[in-house]
Amino acid sequence: MDLAQQLVRSVARTFFNSPDIDTRHVLIVDALVIHSALRDDDLSYLMSMNLKDLHRICAKLRDERLLQVHVRPELREGQQRPTNRTYYYIDYRQAIDAIKWRVYHLDKAVQGNSKPASEKKEYFCRRCSAEWTQMEVLDKVDPIRGFICHRCDDILVFDPEREAGGHEQSTKLNNQLRFITDTLPKLDAMVVPENTFETAHASARPVVRDATNQAAPSIVVESMAKPTAVKGMANTGPQSIAVDITELEGPTEAEKKSEQERKEKIAQSNALPSWHVQSTVTGTSYTGVNPLPVAKADEDEDKKPTDQVDDTMHSEEVTNLFEMLARQQAEEARRKEVEADDSDDEEDDQDDDEGEFEDIINNTGEKRQLSSGTTSVADTPASEERPPKKVKVEVPADDVDSDDEDVAFEDV
Ligand SMILES: [Zn+2]
Repeated sequence: MDLAQQLVRSVARTFFNSPDIDTRHVLIVDALVIHSALRDDDLSYLMSMNLKDLHRICAKLRDERLLQVHVRPELREGQQRPTNRTYYYIDYRQAIDAIKWRVYHLDKAVQGNSKPASEKKEYFCRRCSAEWTQMEVLDKVDPIRGFICHRCDDILVFDPEREAGGHEQSTKLNNQLRFITDTLPKLDAMVVPENTFETAHASARPVVRDATNQAAPSIVVESMAKPTAVKGMANTGPQSIAVDITELEGPTEAEKKSEQERKEKIAQSNALPSWHVQSTVTGTSYTGVNPLPVAKADEDEDKKPTDQVDDTMHSEEVTNLFEMLARQQAEEARRKEVEADDSDDEEDDQDDDEGEFEDIINNTGEKRQLSSGTTSVADTPASEERPPKKVKVEVPADDVDSDDEDVAFEDV
């Protein structure tokens, strides 16, 4: 900030100290650097000049971006209507940018003047004011008097300083602006604090007036000070923003729970509808085909090991089959008793029947092993994929389904 203030004051002295511009520019800039923010009447008191002249000079400085103007309504004591009071302050960021722009354009303008030595018009004619470069006059030369003008045949005058070389100008300018070009990189390396009217006015140094020049105190009219504020819309925008910062690395318990609920929801929504997994004709369920088994809401039922379930299920099935066979045999025996004629054919039939029955038994035995194998294989990845806590598998339905499928496959 000190560097920026120093640069601004130096630039004011550099560019506003020429005879045609009075030194009051420099004094105003100095006063604003010292006082941070000044009302126009205070500044006119400090400068001992009337407000009109002050506004004119400050307008020029404002155009050069060396100072900023802020107008706000204030209500003076004993007045009914507020009046607009003008404040001046320096926005150092804008001032530095303006200085950069000015130096850049100065440098560019001087660089544009510099021409190659072969294009310098160093010979000029005093009679017709024609100008020639050295290459142009070489072919018309008087051995005694020197080069001769192409237009009027007068003797040309050689004056290398007549068109001051751009290089000399540029060097001179660079020397004169060295304090700026040396300061600007330093300012780029640091952060120039933003200086708005509020910050400038907050740190303003009050003007000490003598007893005869006391200014009437005035208060700011807040409602008119913000022309962008709309009446009745003072409470726009968020009142407070609460940010939760969790110190834990991983997700919290609540996040885990919500994530689990979300997964359950997805699993339920992905589950096939009942009319899709269950035959409406036979009532058979086909959920075994589905890699995502139907989720069951029965939480209390503990999941039994798959093999054990299979064994009990298959043993039940086998006993049912044996009972059915026994009933069929009993019926057959009764039928044979009813039929009086005993024949070898019938005995062969009976043997065949028994053979068929045995085949069925063997088939069921095989089927039991196969089905237990397939069901366990089919179940394992599914049970690994999802946690047992979240989704309850309808284990019996699965097993019955796969058994039925196995039977169907074997029949085919
Ligand atoms: Zn001439």
